[in-house]
Amino acid sequence: MLNFFNYTLKDLQTLLLENGFKKFNAQQVFDWVYKKFQTDFTQMTNLSKALVVWLQEHMYFSGLSEQVKQVSKDGTTKFLFKLEDGNQIETVLMHFDYGNSICVTTQVGCNMGCKFCASGQLKKIRNLEACEIVMQVYYLNKYLYTNNQPLIRNIVVMGIGEPLDNYENLSRFLNIVRDDHGIGIGSRKITVSTCGLVPRFDDWIRDFPQVGLAISLHAPNDTIRSQIMPINQAYNISQLMQAVNKYIKATNRRITFEYILIDGVNDSIACAQELAALVKDILCYINLIPWNPVNNTTFKRSQNVREFYETLRKCGITATVRQEKGSDIDSSCGQLRAKHEA
Ligand code: SAH
Repeated sequence: MLNFFNYTLKDLQTLLLENGFKKFNAQQVFDWVYKKFQTDFTQMTNLSKALVVWLQEHMYFSGLSEQVKQVSKDGTTKFLFKLEDGNQIETVLMHFDYGNSICVTTQVGCNMGCKFCASGQLKKIRNLEACEIVMQVYYLNKYLYTNNQPLIRNIVVMGIGEPLDNYENLSRFLNIVRDDHGIGIGSRKITVSTCGLVPRFDDWIRDFPQVGLAISLHAPNDTIRSQIMPINQAYNISQLMQAVNKYIKATNRRITFEYILIDGVNDSIACAQELAALVKDILCYINLIPWNPVNNTTFKRSQNVREFYETLRKCGITATVRQEKGSDIDSSCGQLRAKHEA
């Protein structure tokens, strides 16, 4: 059986044509699924009987079952889903002034091993299929639709996993959600966050020049970065900055550097000055993230967020402090952690 959520409109057109149906049938099915949230083929009233039968025999939608839904005081909602193979993932729905936003997971676990991150405490079990990433968006859209709320406008690929470590499925996911005939979320409404898998940058620049890119920098020099992010031992800051410069030259897009502030590790004024010097010639802005507590770490939240921010500003660097969402339900950045039950 073929999972519908793996198909771009173009792929579905090809599939239907190959099986004796019309190209425009793909558009009809897309409308039912993505605009009317109807996944029962027999209810798709404008399809021929033959097409309904064929779809029932060859395509299906299942694969994500809701285990837990937690709503935070600020309305942020965390969903725990079970996948078909029993693995569990988390997805977060956030409400901002500019609309609803979803934070999607791309892997079960993560191999990057960042010391401050809950997801990194679990080894990667497997990559998510494209359909499993698409389904997170579809599921939340259906939830919003059913509750008469506006659909998702922004996607951040910042849940569990390193997206560039699952590049092919990430690509397919991006191509599906950007399709105007389906979910229709434009490139500029999507941000993918990476810890800096430098060898993937050329692919990224070629394939997704208009999709937002955020880099988890988290330190102004290799000594600190290597201590908290093992990836830095493979691709150090100078290699990362070379890749970043190439990206900006090719796309002319501003890049986001994420910088979590951890007490006594990377939050001194000297660190802020060093960071400012590092990025001063780069078209970027810095998103400061107060570190969110994670079990089994010795880190503490920084008390220095304001001063750090002010120092960057004084050095002429554009920076923001990220709004915290859902910290009371462990759904802030880096707090997601798939639970593995037998
Ligand atoms: N693997 C990707 C995306 C996942 S996490 C990446 O590394 O960018 C999204 C962001 O949350 C990253 O910047 C990550 O470093 C940050 N993060 C991880 N743990 C955190 C924590 N405990 N508090 C705040 N941010 C955290």
